[in-house]
Amino acid sequence: MTALNLLEQTIKVKKYRNSLFSSCTWVLDGGWLVDCGDVEPLLPLLDGQGVRGVLLTHGHFDHIYGLNDLLERFPEARVYCSAWAREQLLNAKLNISFYHETPFVFDYPERIVVVEDGAQVDLGDGNAVTAVATPGHTPGCITWMTDDALFTGDACIPGVRVVTNLPHGDKQLAMRSLEHIRSLAAEGRTIYPGHDVDPSVLTTNISLSSHPNRAPHGEIL
Ligand SMILES: [Zn+2]
Repeated sequence: MTALNLLEQTIKVKKYRNSLFSSCTWVLDGGWLVDCGDVEPLLPLLDGQGVRGVLLTHGHFDHIYGLNDLLERFPEARVYCSAWAREQLLNAKLNISFYHETPFVFDYPERIVVVEDGAQVDLGDGNAVTAVATPGHTPGCITWMTDDALFTGDACIPGVRVVTNLPHGDKQLAMRSLEHIRSLAAEGRTIYPGHDVDPSVLTTNISLSSHPNRAPHGEIL
């Protein structure tokens, strides 16, 4: 492990709290986002780096509504998500925006990269995040995991009960996923959830996994 630790890279992460339902967009140094709501006020947090990709925790409206705006501004950006979240991106009823005033359908299906449980997304410089399937809140929830961080979306918001009463929610699955997330957190990872009532901008550092091929059966994307 020593060699791995020597290669480990730490990057800066910033929290942005969106105007809709206080959902969080996490901005990772190097041009990566976890989820996407408001775009215009988020831009200064990018420090001029552009956006290379968005890692979606799931496809509910409040975590995706800025994607069309964002991808129009950043033509190179890709969206990484589960197969179920892909369906949500392309269906206003599944992503629940239909029931709000502005139905949202994602305009760039060709820029979606579907990931399976255990897949790793290469963030550049040999650093990666791993997709961990954490279904229940939706069937396609993903927790994005690094060596010391868990971006859990709505599968785990510390101090808040997991919402399972939306269409396709599954309480039993959600409880199992919560246990899984807690076990990963117990290994020394910090949880960065999908909602936060605290309006302050948090800036912190996380360690990325340094070997993109480390997962036993995950694909590298
Ligand atoms: Zn949700």
